[in-house]
Amino acid sequence: MRIDILTLFPKLCEGALAESMMKRAQEKGLATLRVHNIRDWATGKHLVADDTPYGGGQGMVMKCEPIFAAVESLRTPESRVVLMTPAGRPFRQEIAAGYSQAPHLILLCGHYEGIDQRVIDHLVDEELSIGDYVLTNGAIAALVVTDAVVRLLPGVLGDEASAAEDSFSQGLLEYPHYTRPLTFREWTVPDVLLSGHHAAIAQWRRQKALEKTQKNRPDLLG
Ligand code: SAM
Repeated sequence: MRIDILTLFPKLCEGALAESMMKRAQEKGLATLRVHNIRDWATGKHLVADDTPYGGGQGMVMKCEPIFAAVESLRTPESRVVLMTPAGRPFRQEIAAGYSQAPHLILLCGHYEGIDQRVIDHLVDEELSIGDYVLTNGAIAALVVTDAVVRLLPGVLGDEASAAEDSFSQGLLEYPHYTRPLTFREWTVPDVLLSGHHAAIAQWRRQKALEKTQKNRPDLLG
């Protein structure tokens, strides 16, 4: 698949795209991840990408022209254009799974007060939020989405089973993990994990996943 991130801060993304799973996905030829500076599509002597809001008020608003030009130069009939915004649909694991089936995502990042409404009305396919808080710009939000999507592409994770058991994949938060040493300070690993009894381990993990979900995210249990 291909993901294009459109931002005024490409450097914020470049380091992250060159590390860990996003790097590995590209090296394995499973994903093409590109970041572009929206200002490259701005025109005029000063390459202006923002202007004051009609009606007055604080801050600046990102202009239509460079954004339309950027998206229209990258878009194909298969592209899904997603605007990162705190006012969007909440991003969830099932959305990441859906996006991982898509051939091409264009993630559009705002800055300042936001983006001219005509971009939302006439250019983007959907508005997406990574949570109920406000970031300074959309680059970090786009990286969050890119990472969550890319790690679901078949072949990216070393152990394919690990994504299937992650939090949210089965409607629960994940069970606790332990590794060596057996005893750290006075805290020991639960006996059941040393038993070699696979059914008992699976049952214990399910129980712990339920307890953790009940404690931290009771909303997931309905
Ligand atoms: N004035 C906007 C509002 O109240 O909805 C907030 C603008 S925010 C300072 C600037 C940009 O950061 C947004 O256009 C968006 O691209 C990005 N952003 C901020 N918080 C976000 C979130 N929770 N999810 C996705 N993008 C976010």
